[in-house]
Parts: sequence; C-alpha cells; structure tokens
Amino acid sequence: TQPAIGNFKRTKEIMQKYGLHAKKGFGQNFLTNPTVLRGIVDAAEISKVDNVIEIGPGLGALTEQLAQRAGKVVALELDTDLIPVLADVLSDFDNVEVLNQDVLKVDLPQLIQNHFDDPTKPIKVVANLPYYITSPILMHLLGTKIDWAGITVMMQKEVAERLAAKPGTKEYGSLTLAIEYRMDAKIAFNVSRRSFVPAPNVDSAIVTLTKRAEALSVQPRDEKQLFGLIKSCFTHRRKSLWNNLKPYFKKDAVKQKQMETILAKQALDPQIRPERLTLNQFIALANAMGEAKL
Ligand code: SAM
Repeated sequence: TQPAIGNFKRTKEIMQKYGLHAKKGFGQNFLTNPTVLRGIVDAAEISKVDNVIEIGPGLGALTEQLAQRAGKVVALELDTDLIPVLADVLSDFDNVEVLNQDVLKVDLPQLIQNHFDDPTKPIKVVANLPYYITSPILMHLLGTKIDWAGITVMMQKEVAERLAAKPGTKEYGSLTLAIEYRMDAKIAFNVSRRSFVPAPNVDSAIVTLTKRAEALSVQPRDEKQLFGLIKSCFTHRRKSLWNNLKPYFKKDAVKQKQMETILAKQALDPQIRPERLTLNQFIALANAMGEAKL
C-alpha cells in the first residue's frame, strides 16, 4: 500500500505539526522515498511469521511499512521527543511497540523474551541506521548469541562496501571479517542522498546480512584471540603480514622461529599483505599461534 508517512509532503507536515527539526547529533535523516521504503522491506523478506526489531524509527516511515508485513515490530528510539509522535502516527497498528531506549544499551536477548509473544519465530532487524554508530550497532547485534534470521540495514555506502568486501581489496578489513564470521553480507541496492530529509552528505546502501550458507572450515580456539590477531594484522595495511605479526614475537629468536614454521605450515607467504588472507586462513593462523602460545 501507499505509505502514509514515508513521503516528502507528509514528513514535512509531521515535522511542522510537532515543531520538530532533524537532530544531527542523533543521525536523523528521514526517508521520504516510498520506493526505497518498500525496497527495504522486500530485501528483508518480511512476512507475518517474523518478529522484527527496528532501530531508530524516527517519524515511523519504515515502521509503518514493517507493521503492514510483519507479525510484530519492536522499535527502539533514543530521541524522547519522537515518542509521542510515533504513538500518534502509528496508532492504527496494534502490532507495533515503540520503546524509548538506546539500542547500544539494550539487553537484546531479554528484549526478545519480554516483547515477542513467540520468541522462537524468526527474529529480524530492519533499520535505517543512525550512521554515526553503524559499526558499534552491528557489533552489538553480532556480539550476542541471538540466531538472527536476517539483518537488513541502511548505512553509508562506503561502510556497506567494507561489509561486503572480498579479500585483496582496499575495503576488506577487520569489520568485513567480524561480520563474515557470523553472516553473509550483500549490498541489496544503493540509495541516493536525495531520498532523505534532510539529505545526508554521503550516499547510502542497503546491506542484507543473512545466516552463513557455508559453515566455517575451522572453528577458532578463542574468538578474542582471533579478533585480536585480525586487528593487529590490519594496523598497518601497507605492510607485509610478517611485519604486522612482529609484536607477537618481538626480538625473541625462538618465537620468531616458531612463527616462521607456522607460516610455512599454513603455506602463507610472510611477504603478502594481510588483506589477502581469507577468514578461514586467519582462523587457522590464530589457532596455530594459540597452540604455540604466541
Ligand atoms: N527510521 C527513520 C527513517 O528511516 O526515516 C529514521 C532513521 S534516522 C537515519 C536514525 C534514527 O535513529 C533517528 O530517529 C535517531 O533518533 C535514532 N537513533 C539515534 N541513535 C540511536 C540509538 N543509540 N538508539 C536508538 N535509536 C537511535
């Protein structure tokens, strides 16, 4: 159906009626393009069986579309000024709950237990994210044990490209790997800055994260150690793998020898750039280093 909220005219009307201005500090850029709004819900493949968590409902443009298609929508909005507005514009829907909360501070498993009638149904996240905290939000979502059925989110195009990057490209890095560890990432479509009020000064893209189609070929011994290694390997992107690994053996000749043996065993050329390593290679390397107490 034709969106009642997500268009330019209605957005302006709502803002005027409630005396609202978009707050930069909260990353408020409201979607006013009905095609994009429907495209997001399509990309998320929302149906009546789904429990949906929306982050940052704003004026309710996406919430409205979600409510029409989902079983239930729980929307988390940090800006207290928007709570009465959302109650008003979404009053026709009995399957929407808006909570005045900071997504980064929410205990997500508890939220799911408390707010969805049947928490065993698929749980999906759909959002036009506040861009200033895109990575922290993704880390917060994936830092839980929740078995997300899908995460469909709008973000700055440059960040989307990092999420969906392949090894050997300049976009590939620790963010790519942190996501890939749990989900398959794809860019669904790009969105022009003209689809928002106010227009942000970057272009955007919708990313879909779905459950990994393929299991990891090796499990890490220790996730923390794995991501510690990944982080240090991308500290100096232009340097070789060997140079980035130096902090692990410093000037210790025995450890250096162990590291050489590990790389040889893994058939890793010490001179390659770390950005060429796949996630499975990082896991194998981290496991071998862990076993050798490096
Ligand atoms: N969903 C609306 C739309 O598409 O028009 C608004 C999207 S706007 C880019 C981001 C929204 O996230 C804003 O409403 C903002 O107030 C809210 N927000 C910002 N920080 C937040 C946080 N930490 N927790 C929850 N919501 C937040």
